[in-house]
Amino acid sequence: MKKYLLLLLGLPFFLNVQAQNNAAEYQLDFTKQQQNLVHVKANLELSQAKNRFFMITHPSDKNPDGEAKFVKNITAKNKKGQKQTLKYLGEGTWEIQSVSSGSFTVEYDIALDHNTENWDHCGGVDEVAYKTPEGLFFTGYSLFMAPDIPALGDVKNVSVSFTLPKNWKASTPWIKTQKPNHYTVNEDLRFLLNNCIFVGNHHEKEIKLGDFELLFALGSSMQPYENDFIGLMQPIIESTTKVFKGSPKKKYLIVVNENDIMTDGSAFRTSFSQIIKGKVNKNSRTNWGHIMAHETIHLWNGHTLIPKEQEEWFKEGFTDYLTNILLTRTKIIDEPTFYKRFENVITKYNITRDLMQNKLSIQESGNNKDQNHYLVYGGGELVALGLDIEIRKATNNHKSLDDVFAGMYEAFGKTNTRYELKDIIAISNSVSGKNLQWFFDDYVTGTKRIPVTDYLAAMGLQLDGFLEDVYISAGENPNAEQLQFKKGILGL
Ligand SMILES: [Zn+2]
Repeated sequence: MKKYLLLLLGLPFFLNVQAQNNAAEYQLDFTKQQQNLVHVKANLELSQAKNRFFMITHPSDKNPDGEAKFVKNITAKNKKGQKQTLKYLGEGTWEIQSVSSGSFTVEYDIALDHNTENWDHCGGVDEVAYKTPEGLFFTGYSLFMAPDIPALGDVKNVSVSFTLPKNWKASTPWIKTQKPNHYTVNEDLRFLLNNCIFVGNHHEKEIKLGDFELLFALGSSMQPYENDFIGLMQPIIESTTKVFKGSPKKKYLIVVNENDIMTDGSAFRTSFSQIIKGKVNKNSRTNWGHIMAHETIHLWNGHTLIPKEQEEWFKEGFTDYLTNILLTRTKIIDEPTFYKRFENVITKYNITRDLMQNKLSIQESGNNKDQNHYLVYGGGELVALGLDIEIRKATNNHKSLDDVFAGMYEAFGKTNTRYELKDIIAISNSVSGKNLQWFFDDYVTGTKRIPVTDYLAAMGLQLDGFLEDVYISAGENPNAEQLQFKKGILGL
């Protein structure tokens, strides 16, 4: 009987805890944009957060508050509408100084002055917020406050609504509901914060690719190239889905704007931002197309396949390898362009090893990604080539790195489990039917020189030169195996 009573008592408490952590509701008002402000009203449940809420920030020496610097006129009210005392604790965190905890309505303005700060330390303006003649770009980080709890994924039922000036629209990666300008966030709070949106009178284009709903938000100078973007994204999404044997997310937003500083891309959970400097045409596609394809492949390798500790060589290097070979397989780049791209990869690796005397292993190099950029991307890409060739050799070209990607996706992507190096080794072993531990010991955690000349020769390509001057060409009289490997990797 006592047990029964406890159960009864325990149940409402349990339900209460569930409800407490379950919802977050945001209303964004863009009608004050001409006064350089966006107004945000957030209904947050803060019991578990001990009445603290925060904004994810990218502080720098010059701007220690990062994005929080642009938060103005912040207030908090309890459920009865009574104003609460707020204290800023620094690093983008606030505390409501109230005797009781529970639900609060937090309101604030975001001043649209992000361009007055330098954001190079966190990847540039498209990791934060920027203005264009058509409207406003934001990452979720720069707009939304979140309860200060360790597991943001516990906050489900997240919704966002927009109040917009006339002729404006909101392009978001979230799911439209019946109500106008109202969205529910797929999954949880992390998909609110780690995404980007564009709000304005820009051009929007939606296309369906199988399970994928692709939404483009294009600045007016990018609108004439709409078909160039679709012509790239369609084959890349289709071929990546084929490699991984499945696709992660159904709705995907791509924001493309002109930029006078650089061509760059930033990938988020279900969206990405591309800024382009200079002309958009077939020639420049080698540049922006690579970034767009690379960031899209991160939807699989990076945002669905997530490592336990840093495995940047696999996340970045293998993504770059896949980018280059899929761009070739889909005929977006031709064979000479592939050679050129791969020559650059080898050059970077050689410069780092021989001229800069960088002796870090490819895996260690990821601890300082920016400083060891060439080893993480270039070295990682050469490891991918080597592993691809080793698996093809072991299986008479029946299996390849494609199968490792598919195996990783099946075991860790679909199950939302974080992977480790030993998992990549186990899946490579099972795909190849051989023990490839030595390969990872030598080239990933060890510092043995990757025999690039041999690996390229295995696919019928000849490498000449040394240090920064290297040249790839089609080898003379390739045998049947070399031709099969090349066909398998490049589709040529
Ligand atoms: Zn990347």
